[in-house]
Amino acid sequence: MSDMEPWKEFPHIWSTKSKFMSWVRGGIRGGLWKKHPVKLQYMESKTFKIENTNPRSMKAHPLVKASQCEICGVVEKLVVNKKNYFEVDHINGNSSLRSMDDVRSFIDSMIMVTFDDLQIVCKECHAVKTLAERKGVSFEEAFLEKQVIAVCKGSTSSIKAFLIERGMEPARNAEQRKKQVREALKTGGEDV
Ligand SMILES: [Zn+2]
Repeated sequence: MSDMEPWKEFPHIWSTKSKFMSWVRGGIRGGLWKKHPVKLQYMESKTFKIENTNPRSMKAHPLVKASQCEICGVVEKLVVNKKNYFEVDHINGNSSLRSMDDVRSFIDSMIMVTFDDLQIVCKECHAVKTLAERKGVSFEEAFLEKQVIAVCKGSTSSIKAFLIERGMEPARNAEQRKKQVREALKTGGEDV
């Protein structure tokens, strides 16, 4: 049974093994993890009410549900612009699921959890933490890399302006400028 290779039998559905495994991972996350009762209770335990500052709804609902990121400490409404602001994270990271042999350990790590294994984090911190885990670098390094990517997404002239503002002479090629941006952010330690 586990010798079966569905991506070979159905290449028009999953062109590679990694696409098949990604489908399995998504199924476990979307099925077992998304509405995991322990996770939902944890979220509830970390939820409190804050003053509603939205002029359109504050009269009807003077208080709204909110939470606090356990990494950066930001306090925010649970839902901002119709999107969840927070996510529940496995503190020790998710184990990998690269072949069917990993299924048991993957499911275990995802669902056999107590409150001590979980933390509530804002989406931004969650993305940084996931990147750090994937690349095997520290949270700070991953945070810096995200900032570098954010700056370098801009137009060439905006990147040059960013460097000039920080007293640097923009290099001629994009790769060099990226290094300069990283250097500027590292020494500046600023929020972007
Ligand atoms: Zn955060």
